[in-house]
Amino acid sequence: MDWKKIAQHISDTTGESFEVQNYSSVGGGCINSAYRIASADKTCFVKMNSANKLRMFEAEAEGLVELAKANAVRVPAAVCTGVVGSQAYIVMEDIVLSGRGSMAEFAEQLVKQHQYTVDKFGWHRENTIGSTLQENTFESDWQTFWNKHRLGFQLKLARQNGASKSLLDKGERIQADLASFFGSYKPQASLLHGDLWSGNYAFSQGGEPVIFDPATYYGDREADLAMTELFGGFSQDFYSHYNSIWKVGEGYQIRKILYNLYHILNHFNLFGGGYESQAEGMAGRLLAEI
Ligand code: ADP
Repeated sequence: MDWKKIAQHISDTTGESFEVQNYSSVGGGCINSAYRIASADKTCFVKMNSANKLRMFEAEAEGLVELAKANAVRVPAAVCTGVVGSQAYIVMEDIVLSGRGSMAEFAEQLVKQHQYTVDKFGWHRENTIGSTLQENTFESDWQTFWNKHRLGFQLKLARQNGASKSLLDKGERIQADLASFFGSYKPQASLLHGDLWSGNYAFSQGGEPVIFDPATYYGDREADLAMTELFGGFSQDFYSHYNSIWKVGEGYQIRKILYNLYHILNHFNLFGGGYESQAEGMAGRLLAEI
């Protein structure tokens, strides 16, 4: 790896000289290889993947910038993205994530992030969820957005990936009756992390909540909350605090299945296996509510 080129890019972007003294590999990611690179007085966090993943990193960097606008939950500052040789890279602020902190404070900051709203659902560019393309075409109506660009998009991929007819049929029935999961609930277009599972938050050494690896867009905040429940790792304290400031809408307990179906279909599309029957189980539960 040509670290000198990356260091030059960091210097050019920040306006402060960055000369690599050493680098080390960091474990823990799902998709990319990660490194910490150090100059005499500063370290940066770098993720790498093949050169054709540059757009994924550009979207991640823009997502971090977007999330920072809310001035709510801390995110690493994006530094630069580019390609050296066969590798694409993203450089960001290195935050030592070994701390312990308050889930109540995290919840409070997440409410503040979700209170950062715009007037359309989507985002100005595509990004990725896992390594799957995530379409963010703006829509003025949330149900249309979810139907086309989330559920419909993953169902189309699932069809290409050989999903069973019974899963696809259930998916279509949910699409046709989507309105029944919303009643009078009218979500706002909140700034979302988009991939908020427990592997994507941590606390800094000083105890500040930090979120990273986003799949940013503007949508129903309940989609972020649903994802926190999908694989666990968020305490009761987190939910009670969030709800004490901004209660979820009526019908959330069912809608969260709808929102998480997107992620489980995505897991089926990425990994196959048991995710198909999990998706079908979730779809069945949703249809039982119609
Ligand atoms: P991937 O895109 O491969 O899933 P992540 O963005 O989740 O990778 O990062 C992998 C791990 O590196 C995280 O679990 C976290 O512990 C750590 N990490 C992520 N971002 C930073 C950062 N800016 N500074 C320090 N450590 C980080």
